[in-house]
Amino acid sequence: MSENIKGYDTETLGLRLSLLVGSLRASGILDEGGCIHLNAVPVTSVVDGELLAKLCPNCDKQLPVHS
Ligand SMILES: [Zn+2]
Repeated sequence: MSENIKGYDTETLGLRLSLLVGSLRASGILDEGGCIHLNAVPVTSVVDGELLAKLCPNCDKQLPVHS
């Protein structure tokens, strides 16, 4: 039963996953290393506390802030 998960065969699941990853990369959510920046922490200005960016501790990538 391991080759059939909720009606999808593993080939279909792999295709769906690669499409999802492609769209995530295109939108800048997922970087080339495959990190999805789940643990990104906010970077705030020391002057006025304004949120400047987010930083992912996993890959050290600075992410834009989506308001
Ligand atoms: Zn990351």
